[in-house]
Amino acid sequence: MLAKSPPQPTINQNEVLEAYAGLEGRDLIRAFGRDFEGRIALLSSFGAESAVLLHMVSEVDRNIPIIFLDTLKLFPETIEYRDRLTREFGLRDVRVFQPNVADLMTDDPSGTLHRINPDRCCHIRKTLPMEKAFKGFDVMISGRKRFHGAARSDLKPISFDENRIKLEPLAAFTALDLQNYMVMRGLPTHPLKLEGYHSIGCAPETCTTKGGSLDNPRAGRWMGQEKTECGIHFSANGKIIRTTPRGLPANGVSA
Ligand code: SF4
Repeated sequence: MLAKSPPQPTINQNEVLEAYAGLEGRDLIRAFGRDFEGRIALLSSFGAESAVLLHMVSEVDRNIPIIFLDTLKLFPETIEYRDRLTREFGLRDVRVFQPNVADLMTDDPSGTLHRINPDRCCHIRKTLPMEKAFKGFDVMISGRKRFHGAARSDLKPISFDENRIKLEPLAAFTALDLQNYMVMRGLPTHPLKLEGYHSIGCAPETCTTKGGSLDNPRAGRWMGQEKTECGIHFSANGKIIRTTPRGLPANGVSA
């Protein structure tokens, strides 16, 4: 008979907030990397602003796992950029997760779900693979910033998602801070940023356009739609952002 695995200790949120109060940026990553070794990972899209956080993590510990969600709808330039940053920063554990083939066959056999039900598309191509990727990790590092606005306006460096800790080391960074960090360290720019994209997600035009600006980069994402997040992040009140629009079945077609 197999031995039962020991129960996971519950994270005491007040103790965590107290122990790491006032830390941000590299200091926040270093402290959690030390105390949660083997239980911490970074979620990165290798998008327009990703180099800064990836560089910080590489300076703290190149062995920290980097989770990359390949939705199979990404720009080829993002894959090339991922490989370049991995090489140049010496990242040793970049893990690629793709959508489940059965989910694609059921919900998106024609590959056009993003047009009729983008929330469902993000759910099967991002949220479900992310949940699988983060099994066993207690801490997720993410690269969101307050200046992105909307649900991100009051981001804290530390928040909690059920029993997982979520770190936002760059929460207080501005667009200028990012730019300065990139220039001072000579970090490579995402090739599509040079073409005018400020936030880079999936390639379909309904998901990523050249809209937006340096101070409002996410305006080019899901342009003209109510949607602002893909469901892999949580709203400021700790609730998961809905992944299926109310009143619509999974395939997005009203009866
Ligand atoms: S960003 Fe667009 S293509 Fe990518 S998973 Fe979401 S809806 Fe689908």
